[in-house]
Amino acid sequence: MISFAGVGKSFGDNHVLRELDLDVAAGEKVSIIGPSGSGKTTILRLLMTLEQPDSGLVEVDGELLWDCRNDVGAADTRRQAAVRRKIGMVFQHFNLFPHMTVLNNVTLSPIQVLGMPREEAEQRAVDLLQMVGLEKHLGHKPGQLSGGQQQRVAIARALAMRPKVMLFDEVTSALDPELIGEVLAVIRDLAHTTAMTMLLVTHEMRFAEEISDRVLMFDSGAVIESGPPSTIFENPQHERTQRFLKAVL
Ligand code: ATP
Repeated sequence: MISFAGVGKSFGDNHVLRELDLDVAAGEKVSIIGPSGSGKTTILRLLMTLEQPDSGLVEVDGELLWDCRNDVGAADTRRQAAVRRKIGMVFQHFNLFPHMTVLNNVTLSPIQVLGMPREEAEQRAVDLLQMVGLEKHLGHKPGQLSGGQQQRVAIARALAMRPKVMLFDEVTSALDPELIGEVLAVIRDLAHTTAMTMLLVTHEMRFAEEISDRVLMFDSGAVIESGPPSTIFENPQHERTQRFLKAVL
């Protein structure tokens, strides 16, 4: 479903991704762990076309998103937007529209981007907001909600576009500790009940262990170890993984 082949990305002299090869199968739930600044978020941002690779090839659902050999992507934004529409992303800082109600935050893209009739978009939004436990807050503005509630709206908003792939970028990092559980519970439910492909960057090791089919340990722009959570967390092979887990667990 997702494929990175030889992807490189630098910011000036900072080589953030080095010849990255990474494949995620359809329906697979994959967590990316690793030290701060190792390039984890950059992987997700390339998939959302928020960043452009310097080299290599990225495919999503069998379609080219980036091909640096032929300049695919930068040259064809309309085609690229169609590929990107298959992907939903939830950010660390929610990124909701502050002046819109919860309901309008969730219906905006289905109506404007997919051309969904308002009634249908609203029905779907209500269902999704019910799923994340926020049906009582449809008319509220984001500022009236807690961080955990705002993040659950952000998840509903991403799901409203019926993505095949969901990306979660450290979605609990900006939350007070007591609000983290409610957000993780929603993602856990999704992981266990949907066929969507999920790629998560997280510092929540126990959560990654619980919901992932596979965990990738990332360091200095490359995957240095990859395997089922039981192996990565209980019996890591790479010295860097051992050191990292010792520090964070
Ligand atoms: P963290 O866990 O702290 O979020 P990360 O592994 O997700 O880290 P990235 O956010 O991918 O790491 O960043 C990797 C490196 O690239 C960092 O050194 C960061 O400062 C740098 N970087 C990321 N985006 C940009 C940008 N737009 N311009 C310049 N440097 C950037």
